[in-house]
Amino acid sequence: MSLIKLQDIRKIYTLDEMKVEALRGISITIEQGEYVALMGPSGSGKTTLMNTLGCLDRPTDGSYLLNGQEVATMSRDARARLRNRNIGFVFQSFNLLARTSALENVELPLLYASGVSGRQRHKRATAMLDLVGLADRMGHHPGQLSGGQQQRVAIARALVNDPDILMADEPTGNLDSRTGKEVIALLNDLNAAGRITVILVTHDQDIARNAKRILVLRDGLIVEDTSDFAIATKALHTADDLEAPSSCND
Ligand code: ADP
Ligand code: MG
Repeated sequence: MSLIKLQDIRKIYTLDEMKVEALRGISITIEQGEYVALMGPSGSGKTTLMNTLGCLDRPTDGSYLLNGQEVATMSRDARARLRNRNIGFVFQSFNLLARTSALENVELPLLYASGVSGRQRHKRATAMLDLVGLADRMGHHPGQLSGGQQQRVAIARALVNDPDILMADEPTGNLDSRTGKEVIALLNDLNAAGRITVILVTHDQDIARNAKRILVLRDGLIVEDTSDFAIATKALHTADDLEAPSSCND
């Protein structure tokens, strides 16, 4: 059984009377342990696809099997439970609580998980911060950490529930290139060391080069699905030509 199986996924947003077809028939399979980068020009449907994969939003049509379970017709509550169990999220802007220590930030998702004692929370959060190389920064607040360190706290938080999938939307978008590289190295290590599946949206060539599989989106369709970075770049540039001017900010 595949971890993820999308079959002819469509998403139509209706805004006033206008209909926008953000996804126009996406069919992909992703296996446990893969490392997938999602690329494409602004407006091509990357965020919509991530939100669908992350069970944050429901497609208008099509089938999405996550671990064999149909997500497309699942209620909001059922999707939330599935998400909490299976998926960890990392965002461009870290999304950490400002007045809260690194340790407490990482413990937070465990507060919502039933049957985890305070002692276990502390133990797991400590282990995750250790894993991302921040054993000596547990008591620091986000404002006392560098951008790269904050993103590592966010990664520890995403991992604390032991998810199958780590999803990241532009995880290095707010980092300088050196700290961005640290975060990439961490994601690579996590993917290589464990069974964690990494799916990320990125404009960053260094990240995409590291991914074992690149999906290129254009106009709500996957136009390239490749392990060859050169082929992905070519597909991307074709997309740029068609959709100029393209933005690199989302
Ligand atoms: P990307 O992340 O690649 O920039 P998005 O998935 O955000 O693309 O958007 C895909 C298309 O769907 C765009 O045309 C966008 O304007 C539209 N869209 C996205 N979200 C909404 C929404 N909530 N309501 C209406 N249209 C939307
Ligand atoms: Mg986007």
